[in-house]
Amino acid sequence: MILRLISNRPQSAEERDLEGKADVVIVGAGIAGSALALELQKRNISTLLLDRRKGLDATPRGITFQPNGLEALEKIGVLDSVQQMGSAERILEVRDWNQQVLLEADYGLLDHPQNYIMTADAVQVEHLLGSKAENLGAQTIWNTRFQEIIWKDGIAQGLRCNVEDGPSEIQASIIVGADGPQSHVRESIGATTKTKKYSDSFMVGLIGPVSELKDRARQYQAPGKMLGIMPAGPGATYIFYCVGTRSFEDLKKEGLGRFKDEVTQAAPELAEGFGTMEAWTRIAYFTPSFIKVDPWVGNGVALLGDSAHTFHPHAGQGVNLSLQDALALADVIADALSAGDTSAKRLSRYQSSRKMFADVVGQHAHYTSTYALSNNWLIKRLNRRALSKMQKNPKLMKKALEITAGVFTKKPGLIEQARIGGILP
Ligand SMILES: Cc1cc2nc3c(=O)[nH]c(=O)nc-3n(C[C@H](O)[C@H](O)[C@H](O)COP(=O)(O)OP(=O)(O)OC[C@H]3O[C@@H](n4cnc5c(N)ncnc54)[C@H](O)[C@@H]3O)c2cc1C
Repeated sequence: MILRLISNRPQSAEERDLEGKADVVIVGAGIAGSALALELQKRNISTLLLDRRKGLDATPRGITFQPNGLEALEKIGVLDSVQQMGSAERILEVRDWNQQVLLEADYGLLDHPQNYIMTADAVQVEHLLGSKAENLGAQTIWNTRFQEIIWKDGIAQGLRCNVEDGPSEIQASIIVGADGPQSHVRESIGATTKTKKYSDSFMVGLIGPVSELKDRARQYQAPGKMLGIMPAGPGATYIFYCVGTRSFEDLKKEGLGRFKDEVTQAAPELAEGFGTMEAWTRIAYFTPSFIKVDPWVGNGVALLGDSAHTFHPHAGQGVNLSLQDALALADVIADALSAGDTSAKRLSRYQSSRKMFADVVGQHAHYTSTYALSNNWLIKRLNRRALSKMQKNPKLMKKALEITAGVFTKKPGLIEQARIGGILP
């Protein structure tokens, strides 16, 4: 079967026609899949990326990188380029709805070379990783939907997919499911999932620049309310706003003017960023989920990114952990291919080295988002107490930041977690 390739860059005639096989096929050309393709190609492992989208998204969207993700970008070799696309901040300021500053979280406290956060356009980052992977020989087929894995003697040998003009088969030694939170690759290895869907939805988007925020990110918190604001590269600000249980249709009926008024009432500094914005085009709506998955590997199959773990985005960690996972998985795949053993047992080193981080970050994101939004009087008091204790105690702030920043090395104990959460003095 010959597959037609549609690439991000101009291709030669030979490149456009591809025999349907590769060492590794990655389902999903998002940030996680593209980062893995780049790392595999560096290890001389032939890689094919396939994605059901027609090509890269046209609408920019914001994404925040934490120190662990920045370190991974540095290892991948793209940190300098991403830095030019985004804005870096050392301070994350938390305010209540009356503008009172509750916490100034200082990433400078971290003993880490990347002791800051950075927000950029995720589409540009995806493009950068994808085109670098292609320059090293990875191939991308868009408009192609994964159907099922082809098994032989219980080991994956390839996959069936639907390319634009019909069904096709691709042979591969390893299949990676980087196909997002609703992963079909995950279903085909029979992994169990525990899903918690949150009741509060969010609007996210990029608006114009807000001069007051130059060197800091800001978050407003109040029971049932949350607004995050991050400078996101030249001329852009990323906003993240909780709209409670309202649907996108409800919000559209209320009108963009009402939405802007509501947001600028909490954060008057955003009026500058909304400027002349007259349509919803750069604003998206989503309802977060927390998905725990086990196992992350099967015989000849591995899961990566949101297909292996999906968190509440309050943590800003999904992409960051995925980039670290991609680096770890590339090494494990290289080892499995050179040993000629792609069994789940051989691949499980990937899960055992990475799952603890996903478990800690997922739980932390769950508690911090639930605490911050809760209307319960006790939780409200605990949350405020935790923030004020942290402000007064740099050691405690550093401990909490290590989790948020993804730079902890072992699972924090219960007492440590209770101190961070304000439950214990
Ligand atoms: C609103 C929002 C804000 C966020 N903010 C942050 C943040 O600030 N920082 C952070 O670290 N994380 C953040 N996250 C999480 C982050 O976006 C995800 O963790 C990350 O994008 C996951 O990347 P991925 O490559 O695993 O998945 P995706 O980006 O979802 O890519 C999956 C790809 O698989 C393709 N696909 C799916 N099914 C198939 C199929 N059957 N066949 C072929 N292709 C398929 C899709 O088209 C898609 O391109 C946020 C998430 C949301 C929703």
